[in-house]
Amino acid sequence: MFSTMFQATGFKRTLDLCKQGKIDEAAVLLKSLQDEFLAVCEENEALKEQLSEVADVLDLAEKIQFDGQKYWLTDEGEKKGPFCQVCYDRDGLLVHLHEHKNHWECQSCHGLYMVQQDSQTETKKKTILRTTLKKTIPLFLEQEMV
Ligand SMILES: [Zn+2]
Repeated sequence: MFSTMFQATGFKRTLDLCKQGKIDEAAVLLKSLQDEFLAVCEENEALKEQLSEVADVLDLAEKIQFDGQKYWLTDEGEKKGPFCQVCYDRDGLLVHLHEHKNHWECQSCHGLYMVQQDSQTETKKKTILRTTLKKTIPLFLEQEMV
């Protein structure tokens, strides 16, 4: 917001300086406007990148399912997984679980998951989408405060 206002007034002032024949002063002002412009471009790129990261997270949230303890990913009709719930919730990482006889083990956080019968899959799936969304939104807030 501040940048935009600065530029709007800065352009007018530069033009005025040119009309008054104060070329050196105009050049200095023009240079600072250029710096400002480049900073805005950089900020814009960073925001675009952040937006695309958020879109990826939302995209993933739609494909991911919670079975009550582990995550499964359904990608183009193919079911992949299971993945560690702790690692995904904490770091947003899908870590494959290693299968043992009666349990699954996460090689990253060493969390253990008992092998269980499928139940309550539907209700849990909705809960998990909500938590992921909640985690995503602060990215925007942080940026606005800068
Ligand atoms: Zn883990």
